[in-house]
Order: sequence, then structure tokens, then C-alpha cells
Amino acid sequence: MDITKIRLFRIVRRKYFLYLCVSVCVWIAFLIGTTLRLNTKKEYTFRKKEYVSRCYLEVLSEFTKRTGFLVESEVCKIPRVNPFDQSIKDLLPYDPQTSLCNDSNLLTYVDNNILYINFTKSRNQVGYCSYEPIYYISNSFKLGKISGNFNKSVRVTDEFIKVQCFDSFNKVIAKNFHTVFFKKKSNQKAADVRKHVVYGQNKPNTDNHRESRLNVLLIMIESTSRINSVRYLRKTRKYLLEKLDATELLGYNKVALNTRPNMAALLTGDFLEHLSCFNDKEGVDKCPFIWKEFSKFGYTTHYGQDAKCTFYSKDMSGFKYQPTDYYDQPFHDANQQGTKHIFNFCFNGKSSSEYVNERMFNLVSNLKDDPFFSLSMHIRMTHDSLTRAVTIDKLLSRTLQRLHKNSLLNNTFLALFGDHGIRSGKVRPTFIGQLEERLPMMFMYVPPWFKNKYCSYFKNLRTNARRLTTHFDTHSTLLHLLDLDNNQHGKNTYRQKGISLFNEIPMNRSCQDANISSKWCACNFHL
Ligand SMILES: [Zn+2]
Repeated sequence: MDITKIRLFRIVRRKYFLYLCVSVCVWIAFLIGTTLRLNTKKEYTFRKKEYVSRCYLEVLSEFTKRTGFLVESEVCKIPRVNPFDQSIKDLLPYDPQTSLCNDSNLLTYVDNNILYINFTKSRNQVGYCSYEPIYYISNSFKLGKISGNFNKSVRVTDEFIKVQCFDSFNKVIAKNFHTVFFKKKSNQKAADVRKHVVYGQNKPNTDNHRESRLNVLLIMIESTSRINSVRYLRKTRKYLLEKLDATELLGYNKVALNTRPNMAALLTGDFLEHLSCFNDKEGVDKCPFIWKEFSKFGYTTHYGQDAKCTFYSKDMSGFKYQPTDYYDQPFHDANQQGTKHIFNFCFNGKSSSEYVNERMFNLVSNLKDDPFFSLSMHIRMTHDSLTRAVTIDKLLSRTLQRLHKNSLLNNTFLALFGDHGIRSGKVRPTFIGQLEERLPMMFMYVPPWFKNKYCSYFKNLRTNARRLTTHFDTHSTLLHLLDLDNNQHGKNTYRQKGISLFNEIPMNRSCQDANISSKWCACNFHL
């Protein structure tokens, strides 16, 4: 090879090397550019979709910090335990089955106040049906005048009905119970008292916030702890946390033994034993239940639970007069007539929780343009059972989805919670069992626009997720909802037991500060 050829070869090699370098640089620049563009787009999409403010993003990053403790302060440490821990693993059913009720005798349904016979299901066995209205009388129910027979459909004019269907030999072949929505006249005033603002799904409206008040939707799941929700309410948790961005209160501690005193704390803001109204032989009507406050502000009120307990027992007379605008006790009493055990949960083709759930959804859908306060309590399904929460899980997650998709949560404060953890069974005596008995589940949801308008309240709620909190605080929070712009109820003044969760709970709050007796205190707990 002569010198000219060698030079030429070197020049070509250098050129190729240069081309290669330039190409690599161009590729690197292209990749960096694409990544940056994608990230910007992602952030933009996220921001656009969620309408999050900078404040909210800060809160989010703060909240995602994790430690080995749910609550960690100088005076209170509550450990984050594994719900499937080795020590109790063998006491938990490996594959809990959902409990379904036999619905073969569910031969009728109601749609828009019309009661229909379901001929697809009844396969023409039904000759005719008739219904009786169910009315409330002091602490009980009575059946009204029986309707005429119908063989296809009939318009219903009563809130609760018992339907009987007969074959061609006049033999009863099915008993069905239904709730029907009727707008009650006494609540006409509600719309005038509050200028209700329903927000578009993605567009926060900045007008009229001063006068707006949130609807209140409370859903209580009996004996359900946060720990058990991790085991058996997975779909519901996922929807609440991931889709609704609800706040889970990790240090939520019960204040008393069982359902009644814990619900009394939430609903009255005081200990049951401090209120003489609970001993009134006539009934508990005079007690300062929180729905009375909401009623004063023009809210339509609703209370329903699927068992005759809580404020009804041998030593407590229940309600002599209907306590709320919509009150479901007579319906459940009639539907469950003759049932002795609280363990039963299937009634005439549906589970007690399905009835509670349907009623709640129906009311919320129909009352969406009025301010409402609704309390639904699912007692039977999870009373004394860790695993039956699985059945509620499907029901609840689907309902939350329906509420959300139908924009029924756009102006609603939602709390989904337990009164206390499980109080029976083999897990209870263990360390984790004792801890979970003391730590009921509590999720709180506020709509997206609230997070921006009341940024500091939302920030505090997120902070309080890892503080020691109680049903007393929930009571104060509910009162605070009636007075968001003045923050009077938020201060620790109302009955002195709780602090609104929209205000910051002190980091070093002890059980004594929070009105939790040492017996039920989950701080620094050991067996
Ligand atoms: Zn209970």
C-alpha cells in the first residue's frame, strides 16, 4: 500500500468516526428531548385531570413518607403491623368465600316508584301479587292497608312496602321487601336555606363557595378495623385511596367498648355515660344527635341500620319519635321479623347490607340537589366475623364507583369507617387482635375543589392521618363542615372532647388529651 492510499484510508476512517460521534450525539439529544417532553405531558395531563394545586402536591409528597409506625411521637407510638403476621396467620381463613344470599324468591322489583313482577325470574309461576305499606310507630312498625291485587305492575305510594306473590292456587310463593324514594314536603325549605352548589366533574367553580356546604355521607361497617380492611376490604380501600384520593386516618382509636358508646361519641360528641338522655325510659330522642344540628341548617337527614341495636336494647328504649327525615328502622324490622340472631344476614332474597346500600344510593341519587346528612350502618354482615367483610367489599367498591361516576360525590363529604375492631374470635386475644380492636378503620373523602379552596384544612387532614384521633374528632369535623368559613366549630370548644380534623391535631397528643381511657389506648400498647 503506498502512502497516498494510507492517507486516504486515515481520512475516511476519521470521517466515519466523526459521523458516528455526531449520530450518537443526535440520538442522545433526541432521547433526552423525548423523555422531557413525555414527563411534561404526563405532569400536564395529571394536573389537568386532577385539578391539583401546588399546595395539594406538597401535601401528597409529605403524606407518602413512610415509617415503621402509624403514629410516632414522644408520647404515642402505634406500630404498623402486618395484618397477615406469622403470629396470627393460621387463625385467618386462607381463601374467604363471599357470602351470597339465595335470591330465587326475589320475584319483584321497583323502578321509578313502579312495582313490577319479574316474569323472567318467576317463569310464570306468579298468578298475582299485592303489597302492604310499612309504617313507623313508636320503637316498632305496623303494616298498613293491603293494596289491590296486580298481575304485572302497580304504582307505589308508600316509602316501605312488603310484597306477597301468590300462585294460581292462592298460595304465597314469595315475600319481598322494598324501599321506595319519596321527596318529603318538610324538606322543601332546605334549598332555600343553602344555595347548593354542584360542581362540574372537572371544573372547580369559584363562585358562591361562601354559601356552599357539603353533603354528609357516613357509612359505618360494624367491627371493622383498619387492619382487617387491609385483609378483606381490598377493593374498597383501593378505590378510596387510588381513585377518590381519600385520607385514611392511621391513628384512629376507639373511645369505648362496643358499638353504642362509640357511635354515641361520634354522634353526640360526648361519652354515653355523661348524657342522662340515654337513660330516659321514654326514648333517646332528647340526646344531642348531630343530625339535629344539620337539620337546623336545612339539611335533609337520614339514618338507617340493618339491626335493631345500638340505641335499642333491653336497657335502652330507642327512638319514640322518628329521629330523622328518612328513617329505615321500620323497614328493617318488618323485613327481619321473627329473626332472633344478629348473625343472620339474608332476608327474603338479599343480604341486609344490600338493603342498606340500595337505600343509601337511592337517597343520595334523589337528594343530590338538596343538602343531606345520611348515616348508614352495616351491622349484621361483619358483626363477629372477620372474613364476611369480603362480601361487603364488592358491594361497597361498586357503590363508590357508581357514586363517583354519577358525580354524586362532587359536593359531598364521605366518611367510611368502623365503630371499633373485631371483639370476638381467635384473633382478638393476640397482640395484633388487641391492637385492631382499638383501631377502627376511618377514611375521609372531600371533593377535589375543596382541597384547593380549603387548602389549609386539607393539609391538616392529611397531617392528622398520622396523629392520634378519635370519634370525638369526627364529631367536631362534622360540626366544622357547617361552619367552614368561620372555623368556630373547628376550635376545641364544642363539648371539649374532640378537635376538628380540618385543624392540626397536636403532634404530642396523648390518649388522655384525646379522651381515650388507658384501657382502650393503642399508644405504646403491649400485652
Ligand atoms: Zn360495634
